[in-house]
Amino acid sequence: MSSPVPTIRLKPRKALPFHCQHPWVFATAIGRIEGNPDTGDEVRLVSESGEFIARGLYNPSSKIRVRLYRWEDLPLDADYWRLLIQRAVGLRKLLFSEGSDAARFCRLVFSEGDGLSGLTVDRYGDFLLTQWTSAALFERRDLLISLLAEEASPSGIWRRTEKNMGHLEGLEAHDGLVWGSEPPAKIDVVENGVTYNVDVVSGQKTGFYYDQRENRRAVANFTSGANVLDVCSYTGSFGLNALVHGKAASVLAVDSSQSAIDGALEHARVNNVSDRYSVEVGDAFDTLQRLASESRRFEVVVLDPPKLARTRSGLQRALKAYVRWNEMAMQVTAPGGILATCSCSGHVSRDDLEHVLVEAAQRAGRTVQIIEERGQASDHPVSAHCLETSYLKCFICRIL
Ligand code: SAH
Repeated sequence: MSSPVPTIRLKPRKALPFHCQHPWVFATAIGRIEGNPDTGDEVRLVSESGEFIARGLYNPSSKIRVRLYRWEDLPLDADYWRLLIQRAVGLRKLLFSEGSDAARFCRLVFSEGDGLSGLTVDRYGDFLLTQWTSAALFERRDLLISLLAEEASPSGIWRRTEKNMGHLEGLEAHDGLVWGSEPPAKIDVVENGVTYNVDVVSGQKTGFYYDQRENRRAVANFTSGANVLDVCSYTGSFGLNALVHGKAASVLAVDSSQSAIDGALEHARVNNVSDRYSVEVGDAFDTLQRLASESRRFEVVVLDPPKLARTRSGLQRALKAYVRWNEMAMQVTAPGGILATCSCSGHVSRDDLEHVLVEAAQRAGRTVQIIEERGQASDHPVSAHCLETSYLKCFICRIL
């Protein structure tokens, strides 16, 4: 007979979020542990009075002591994991027509957004790139990888590791091939009809940010004949959409990373728009300041900074930085021009970003009309039960 599933009993009055299907049980909510679970073991979560709530996986090394996956008292077995992966793959089939660029280049599994807390999978054509942010789920990797291989039929599956997972989760993993054949060092990613050679092995995250796909296309609706400034350009994608779809007159891409700028230049060449494309390697704020002091003005400015608020405690400081960056971006936006301003920090709410714009406008002496309040691409679904999955904001604004 198999041993009973250990039980995690909550403290009094802690059950509500988990009844509402929030998947993260922090150590501080736990009253008692019945049994002796180890990392990756399946556990039952019950209220203080013993009422069943959900099944999850245990990790004694993480502040998120239990991640929940199933809200019925049934096992987390292979059939159930398969169902979750099928649902994730099914959503992308619903979103993107078969054989389309987006079907071939998209996020296939978005962690909590797909009910799979701790696993992110990006599809790069025939290859899948996996990232694990839960040591407990990582214990199930062999099963999950074989299910992914069956449900998504890739040629190969590669693992990328997130920094900091040793510290946060006790997860020690290395990059490398985990199934099938090795991906080429550079993959031709096609998004919105624009081609990128993406270094999936050593690029940022899994090499390309799919979450801005629809925003890149939306911004290009405003770029006809415009001089565009693409700040924090990485692969160059906002600017390239502006040139290829939006008939922009010119793009200046700025990024502090030389390799990002090298990539952007290469992508401009591949898409035959080099003649209208120029670049600068430098700090965004310093560069904006310099451009402002030279009285340079752009009809369209894109500002897509890295995550400035990494922790809740760092939020106030980060908001100040957002204000300063946006103030400078407004300074270089031509009167009546467009500023597409983004934040990928989950800790920064939509309200926060609106307040940032008000303060930045005040300092820059400008007036802001928000034309579109956009979010992340649809292959990064927001779980209504875990609003932390709603992280990307992209506001398209007219700056008067
Ligand atoms: N716009 C890009 C994604 C940007 S990610 C896209 O659509 O794919 C953030 C980028 O900001 C990274 O490429 C990083 O190199 C760059 N970055 C980080 N700090 C910076 C700074 N202080 N100044 C300029 N660029 C910076």
